[in-house]
Amino acid sequence: MSNPSYSISLIAGILSARSYIVNDQAIITKLVIDSRSVIDPEESLFFALDGKRDGHEYLNHAYTNGITNFVISNRNYADRFPDANILLVADVLTALQALARYNREHHKLKTIAITGSNGKTIVKEWLYQLLAADFNIVRSPKSFNSQIGVPLSVWEIEENHTLGIFEAGISRAGEMDSLAKIIQPNIGVLTNIGEAHAEGFSSTKEKLLEKLKLFKNTELFIYCPEYTEELSLDQLPGKLKFSWSFKQKADLQILFIEPIDGRNYIRAIFKGEEIECLIPFSDKASLENGVICWATLLALGYSPQQTDSLLEKLTLVSMRLELKNGINQCSVIDDSYSADISSLAIALDFLNLQNQHPKKTLILSDLYETGKSDEDLYAEISALLKQKNVNRLIGVGSHISAAANLFDMETSFFESTTAFIESFPSLHFSNETILVKGARRFEFARISKLITQKIHDTVLEIDLNALAGNLQFYRNKIQHGVKVMAMVKAFSYGSGSFEIANLLQYHKVDYLAVAYTDEGVALRKGGISMPIMVMSPEPSAFDAIVKHKLEPEIYNLDILKEFIGFLNENVEGYPVHLKIETGMHRLGFEESELSDLLEQLNGTKKIKVVSVFSHLVGSDDPMHDEFTAYQLARFTAVADKIRNGVGYSFIKHISNTSGISRHPEAQLDMVRLGIGLYGFDGGLAHNKGLQTVAVLKTTVTQVKPIKPNETVGYSRRGALPNGGMIATVKIGYADGYNRKFGNGVGKMLINGQLVSTVGVICMDMCMLNVTGLDVKTGDEVIVFNGELTIAELAKQIDTIPYEILTNVSQRVKRVYFYE
Ligand SMILES: *Cc1c(COP(=O)(O)O)cnc(C)c1O
Repeated sequence: MSNPSYSISLIAGILSARSYIVNDQAIITKLVIDSRSVIDPEESLFFALDGKRDGHEYLNHAYTNGITNFVISNRNYADRFPDANILLVADVLTALQALARYNREHHKLKTIAITGSNGKTIVKEWLYQLLAADFNIVRSPKSFNSQIGVPLSVWEIEENHTLGIFEAGISRAGEMDSLAKIIQPNIGVLTNIGEAHAEGFSSTKEKLLEKLKLFKNTELFIYCPEYTEELSLDQLPGKLKFSWSFKQKADLQILFIEPIDGRNYIRAIFKGEEIECLIPFSDKASLENGVICWATLLALGYSPQQTDSLLEKLTLVSMRLELKNGINQCSVIDDSYSADISSLAIALDFLNLQNQHPKKTLILSDLYETGKSDEDLYAEISALLKQKNVNRLIGVGSHISAAANLFDMETSFFESTTAFIESFPSLHFSNETILVKGARRFEFARISKLITQKIHDTVLEIDLNALAGNLQFYRNKIQHGVKVMAMVKAFSYGSGSFEIANLLQYHKVDYLAVAYTDEGVALRKGGISMPIMVMSPEPSAFDAIVKHKLEPEIYNLDILKEFIGFLNENVEGYPVHLKIETGMHRLGFEESELSDLLEQLNGTKKIKVVSVFSHLVGSDDPMHDEFTAYQLARFTAVADKIRNGVGYSFIKHISNTSGISRHPEAQLDMVRLGIGLYGFDGGLAHNKGLQTVAVLKTTVTQVKPIKPNETVGYSRRGALPNGGMIATVKIGYADGYNRKFGNGVGKMLINGQLVSTVGVICMDMCMLNVTGLDVKTGDEVIVFNGELTIAELAKQIDTIPYEILTNVSQRVKRVYFYE
């Protein structure tokens, strides 16, 4: 990747900025929006965008990282750095978009824009694979498709590109216009349209009309009529239109689909003739995405024969970084999908975000098609590794090996992946975070297999981006200045421990809370330095609490006295949190104990109350709204008395997840966000607006026929009266799959089909009825995901999502994904 280059004065003109230019020789090649991700500071322009915080707060940090060119909107910062170029604009995001639009307008390439509810990134990557031989393509990195992601993608267009493929995603009405102006697409691809409410629109029609604004001026529009039913043909964009459908007459009309050996053979009608292709994937989503690509190629004028031979070579696109447990207490981040500098920078940011081990190692292959000389390329990478605090580099390939002298850190180099594997025992991986990143042809999957722990076939996949998205969802609901305490008790509701906490720390929540001291200690050992509250601070663990700077919840006089007694005489102002009883009748001080409490607090300098809180018992249910109001009033009255009694103020908090979504008046100084982070909120209809974080998967171990008179499992409880097929899968009650799911109550998904349990659930296994379905050993089985939801499972066995999630046992390996 090499970027366009513009002089700072030209940029000042494009943005109509009020400029303070001290160095007019500055040339800009990179746009930076995160002060932590700087590759090439001299040639970078920092945009002080408003995000969770005011971007101007990060100017100092960006400056310390070597940046001397800034776009800002607050004039108070204009003379902060006398030796830097400052461009003052009315709105920083608009400026970023204007610059990208300028770059697009000055290049004559053809562009394809992709939008829709799902599949944008896969379709973009597949079109790239299919068209790369015929065009020099620039495309969105990863899933950069937002108001910020699109301009950053379009900025990468430069002289020699002949085709751009960009995805565009929006979260609310009114956003598509600006994206259309930036991409100015010639060709539009609409992937599909999902439920309106899931994306914050009031109706499907509204959503559709908004999305189609992207394609207003396109020459060619590729779509499926089932997704645009609510509009008439003349409401659709595109001078030319090309339709595809599985159900009705269309330019590409699918006739039938036959699964063969994990692939899909498809026949269709195109221009009155039968044509065929093979899509090398078996799942439903890949089938649809594959057909969208097929339609696009045909619409672009490729012959049916050409499309057939191109499509069968499609390869898996994994956009995600995987974080897994490695051998010898290592953590492994696996990213062997794309090897270019921008994705390396993203992966290195994730390496730094997950700081459970002080030592950071990168295994990196040669990079290809970067448009740079080896000398420049590896010098740039070397600077990047230094800036990202990589301690050890293992380079694989002849090019990176030849550049060995450019890297001043612990290094080893190998000519090939095989040479690496032969020397593996001498590399001594231990207690470090290892990022594995290589070009596809180096087959680094062989390396990650060596250094990751073997995974028992049942895994809980955690989508860290979804979790960060859910955090943002609640941040948008809280008033400015209200703090967030994230509840990560019980292994983050079953989702993990320091992996989740590291993400929350990175996203700057204010506090974490755990149930027990051990959990807090584990977080400290995993690199968490932010404040942590411990809700059940058993006296035997006071030692560990103080040693690891954990902050105890104090819920009665006994524990208060014990803790004061435990602290050394010279300790001053140790932070504690007071729990007040307002209606839960679980833990907490009663109003009648206030005078004793104050006497204790005022009799010592050893501790300081940093927060006072209580817990709502029914914030999710309108039925309890009156009681919620009563709890809030009672709490504020007690907190005020404590405030007056101790003579200083502290943080007050009472709201949990549903409190945030349903009771804005109860936000006080801080909210305690729990299950909402993990994608559930009893106070929201259908968890509207939240993303699925956890997916539990297992595999089929065996498939066998059953006769009408035979039975399945213990106590002969299962039977198929007409005979059929049984699949045994590797999950049982010891993994957290409750016995109540037995005998047909529980359902799982295999190859997109819903199947039921047969017989009782065993300790490590259970059996499913797969009669009449194409299921074989090794097939993936979904226990829950975004389609078969935890909420549904909870309903099936009459419990709540909290229990389903936290019951997934520790034996089930957690794998984390980050895009
Ligand atoms: C678990 C817990 C929360 C979080 O509750 P959610 O409903 O999961 O948001 C808040 N406060 C306390 C004291 C808790 O124990």
